[in-house]
Amino acid sequence: MKEDYYDILGISKGASTAEIKKAYRKMAIKYHPDKNPGDAEAEEKFKKSAEAYEVLSNEDKRARYDRFGHQAFEGGGGGGGFGGMDMDDIFSQFGDIFGGGFSGGGGFSGFGGGFGGGQRRAKGSNLRIRVSLTLEEIANGAEKKIKVKRKVQAPGTTYKTCTTCKGTGQVTRVTNTILGRMQTASPCTACSGSGQIIDQKPPEADAHGLVQKEETVSIKIPSGVEDGMQLKVAGKGNDAPGNGVPGDLLVAIEEKEHHSLQREGDNLHYDLYISLSEAVLGSSREIDTVTGKVRIKVEEGVQSGKILRLRGKGIGNLNGYGKGDLLVHVNVWTPKNLNNEQRDFFERMAEDENFQPNPEKSDKSFFEKVKDMFS
Ligand SMILES: [Zn+2]
Repeated sequence: MKEDYYDILGISKGASTAEIKKAYRKMAIKYHPDKNPGDAEAEEKFKKSAEAYEVLSNEDKRARYDRFGHQAFEGGGGGGGFGGMDMDDIFSQFGDIFGGGFSGGGGFSGFGGGFGGGQRRAKGSNLRIRVSLTLEEIANGAEKKIKVKRKVQAPGTTYKTCTTCKGTGQVTRVTNTILGRMQTASPCTACSGSGQIIDQKPPEADAHGLVQKEETVSIKIPSGVEDGMQLKVAGKGNDAPGNGVPGDLLVAIEEKEHHSLQREGDNLHYDLYISLSEAVLGSSREIDTVTGKVRIKVEEGVQSGKILRLRGKGIGNLNGYGKGDLLVHVNVWTPKNLNNEQRDFFERMAEDENFQPNPEKSDKSFFEKVKDMFS
């Protein structure tokens, strides 16, 4: 069973924020690894008190802990909640606890004493591009081959161990703090923490041994992306100098306007205009979809405002929840400027019973239909 956070810090349940801070400070000083080199028990206590402080110093987390105990932080996506605090996390708390006087070394990314330190691998910078997609590409997903100018390591560049940090990637300073003599380490500025500097490089390479190179990158676009979204292609940004890892390629999505289809989430809308004759006699019309043209049947006697739903002819859902629909809106085009013959015809029909509006229950009004669509 996990130890109670209040017990770990030796405080009562009603302890004030100041008391919590004071108790943790005491623990941190007592069990600090630099004061207890090689003492696994002290390190364990040091970590436990940091975890307890992490929870109890946060009003929200403390309230949850008071109500549910350790269960408050179990389960969920992280698997195990806390307990996984590493030394970097713990030391990053220290600025809060010990105030500015403690931050002499420029951050606590690592301590001496054989843990928490080590080389940090430099990361290359990210590249950003925009990709313009047609509605068809968005609807069905696409693979785009894009030419990208990346900085890559120049062939012939050789490295040697950094003389400033002797390859450790860190410079260590001994400072006097309230914890006594402390070793603090910060990344070496000469090699950006990689531990290596350039020995030889071809003349065309920059100061980091990099040259610009055009490369074709294949980008998989999932269906259902939206204008303004950003996709990440890991490792296709600029290379890092030395043994670092390359940055990422960040792809901003742009959606091209379609000439006849309007997008609304995963659904598409199409305005179909038919003549008065087609409305009366019925017809068959070809319309655009994101997978090509399809022919649809317009029943005789169709009313203006009717919506025909073509299931699954919309956009593939980004999260894999099937496909949206294509909604075809029927608009009956009323002619203007009739000739005499046409005018005669409509005048004769004006009094005809068959031309009088007589909506049946099934001929819902436009607004009722829209209401149905969204409910
Ligand atoms: Zn260095």
